[in-house]
Amino acid sequence: MSTVASQKVVSIDYTLKNNNGEVLDTSNGREPLSYLHGSGNIIPGLEKALEGKQAGEQLAVTIEPAEAYGERDERMVQQIPKEQFAEIPELAVGQQVRGQTPEGTHVLTVVDIADDAVTVDANHQLAGETLNFDVKVVEVRDATEEELQHGHAHGAGGHQH
Ligand code: ZN
Repeated sequence: MSTVASQKVVSIDYTLKNNNGEVLDTSNGREPLSYLHGSGNIIPGLEKALEGKQAGEQLAVTIEPAEAYGERDERMVQQIPKEQFAEIPELAVGQQVRGQTPEGTHVLTVVDIADDAVTVDANHQLAGETLNFDVKVVEVRDATEEELQHGHAHGAGGHQH
């Protein structure tokens, strides 16, 4: 049976909206997204909602931040001396840059640029957002050995490598 369960590769069409009805992301016009179920490839709330669903099923699911990208943490908004951005020629508000911290590499969003300091936000852009997904399960298949080893789906809509 093509039922969504752990160690299955699941392909989904989806549209993601925030609570204002704005589309944040969609697979429309692209390959369906393929992921390895049960491996944390997608946000926990969506993985839970898809558990046990069949190919062809459609669902609408609302996911609170704790089951999505987490709550915003204002301590992750920080000012950094501007000279550390010297090698980025046209730094702009809204731009995303990679930053090195003791915990590893983070994607930082530039939120303000002053004369001597740049304010960056290391929160995920969807942190604190309630997410509304319209999802259609397109295909469910067994994962290959290699996919299970890698912990993700291969092929169209998955990892290409
Ligand atoms: Zn792989």
